Amino acid sequence: MDVALILSILLGRGSLGDRWVWDYSNSGLFSVRSVYHLIHLSDRSSASGGLLGWNFIWKADVPPRIRVFLWRLASDILPTGVGLRLRHSAGLIACSFCGSPDEDARHALFTCPSVCAAWDSTGFGDLDSWWRAGSPECWVRGAHGALSREDFAFFATLCWALWWRQNRLVWEGVVQPMLLSVIFARAATTTFLESLGMMTAPRCVGVPCWLPPGASCVKLNFDGAVRKDPNRVGLGVVARDSWGVLNDLRADLVPHFGCPAVSEALAARLAVDLAVARG
Ligand SMILES: [Zn+2]
Repeated sequence: MDVALILSILLGRGSLGDRWVWDYSNSGLFSVRSVYHLIHLSDRSSASGGLLGWNFIWKADVPPRIRVFLWRLASDILPTGVGLRLRHSAGLIACSFCGSPDEDARHALFTCPSVCAAWDSTGFGDLDSWWRAGSPECWVRGAHGALSREDFAFFATLCWALWWRQNRLVWEGVVQPMLLSVIFARAATTTFLESLGMMTAPRCVGVPCWLPPGASCVKLNFDGAVRKDPNRVGLGVVARDSWGVLNDLRADLVPHFGCPAVSEALAARLAVDLAVARG
């Protein structure tokens, strides 16, 4: 029967060869606009009882790039080791942090030993039960259903920050301390919610707050500080865009020369190095 159906397909008599056609645009050519349209069609179909929609993601109180990341996570299309293997990619397929051969989204963001402490520090508690079973979509929906709007924004931002941290190791060979991802996610979430008028952070009189740079600009903040080891100075640089979203960062430990001004100068040099490296 299948043979008869196949043979019944009329082949064109022209001389055109095979070519790729994107089925979701009139021209047959791929465009981001057509994907955006497709996403909205998917949401509309959910209203009629089909696939559940993604509106809760598009309405999340996070910057657009984190919404897109969250949608990719929930759709299980992040380029994890397992995902790349399914697509027969010849690239890295093991976890870059622990070497696990089964690096899927669950491992990369939640169960890898390199990120577990991040979630322990959130106080979310029972998140573990969400990703033990079910798909990434289940985790994201579970988080959205159980957390407040503010906490869901932090959840999404921390997922994004941990994924970004992993990409830095893969593509730049930089091991970023996990704690920096948590600190960034807290700060970025607070900044964004403040920009929406949803949160007012306590202000210390006389202490200047962080002000975002102008559109299309990146602001570098740097500092040098002595913590537990008095012989060493921790240097940190954070680059953020006009949304307050982390653009890049650097951290380093150097010998302490006993002069705070020198520590600040070294941090400034680290900031300049970062700016130069990023062009
Ligand atoms: Zn791992």
